[in-house]
Amino acid sequence: MSVLRTGMVLFLGLTLMTLKASGSPDSSPKVEVQPFGAISSGQKTDLYVLSNRKGMVVAITSYGATIVSIKVPDREGHVDDVTLGFDTARGYEAGKAYFGATIGRYGNRIAHGQFVLDGKTYTLPKNNGDNTLHGGISGFSMKIWAAKEIPSKDGVAVQFTYVSPDGEEGFPGTLTATVEFTLFKDKNELKIDYKASTDKPTVVNLTNHSYFNLAGQNQGTILEQTLQLNASRFTPVDAALIPTGELRDVKNTPFEFKQPVAIGKRIDDADEQLKFGQGYDHNWVLDRKAGSSGLGLAAVARDPKSGRVLEVLTTEPGVQIYTGNFLDGTVAGKGGYKYSRRSAFCLETQHFPDSPNHANFPSTTLAPGKEYRTTTIFRFSVK
Ligand code: BGC
Repeated sequence: MSVLRTGMVLFLGLTLMTLKASGSPDSSPKVEVQPFGAISSGQKTDLYVLSNRKGMVVAITSYGATIVSIKVPDREGHVDDVTLGFDTARGYEAGKAYFGATIGRYGNRIAHGQFVLDGKTYTLPKNNGDNTLHGGISGFSMKIWAAKEIPSKDGVAVQFTYVSPDGEEGFPGTLTATVEFTLFKDKNELKIDYKASTDKPTVVNLTNHSYFNLAGQNQGTILEQTLQLNASRFTPVDAALIPTGELRDVKNTPFEFKQPVAIGKRIDDADEQLKFGQGYDHNWVLDRKAGSSGLGLAAVARDPKSGRVLEVLTTEPGVQIYTGNFLDGTVAGKGGYKYSRRSAFCLETQHFPDSPNHANFPSTTLAPGKEYRTTTIFRFSVK
């Protein structure tokens, strides 16, 4: 072989090796920050993209501390995005469904936009008929949160902080809220740690409003996906979806999910509660050992086609199951895909709706000097 040919072979070989190295996926857990566009005020937003060694990638934007996408493998190893959302911050700003958002200061409804705390009546803006929903007209889901990557021994993590001024949306007290998202390095789990403190007594109920479709965000309805809930009771509502105050046994009702059942199996049954919600839009009371405040399994959802399983663990006493009954195919989401009715389900871990007006519900009051702390885990696997 001539010197020239040997040189060429060597050169080609080296080039191929270099190409291979740069072309192979870098599987070390990491966080990448990308621009996510400006909202109408001109303020810019960012997208934090967290990835781990098991093929899970989670993107979260500073607009609303919102989960934009969760990509996880199915049983064949094929990765899909299993949450609904938009491609830019402007989409979220215009959207009305709270896709993936962090909800606050008070998740779900407060009846008649009013509650009494320490003898004083507070009035909130009404944005859902006669009631206040998800923190009011401009809740935490519509704020730009300060964001930064933080160290984590478990994997990679991003912390979002929002300081809600005293009196914002009618709520008393300056509330400093942080939400930390941790993607585990060697397991497909996303942990969400919520913390808050206040300078005056207030009420707090933070949650995440991800809409899941375990077949993929552009794969139609979730009616054949199954759900299992660790809950023997739920909180029935009136026609405006305000809890009546009763904790009702689920036994022999369409609300019994102690064993896995397809979400669509009984969703259109002739049942007053299902009529009020136009499907499932209710809070389940999680079964817990008396006095236990640690993480407990709340829900298991499964898509029989892809094999994807989502387990939800939480320290919260309740979970709101909302089956996208008000989605109507008019909203174009990621990739222009139109989200039709019941094309996703939400598993919103929370204190019960309208707790400030129900003395028999676990309290949502936060006093100065105390720390609000809750944790929820979205754990993915295949089966
Ligand atoms: C509520 C629904 C509402 C949905 C989107 C859920 O938490 O319970 O009634 O339509 O959020 O806003």
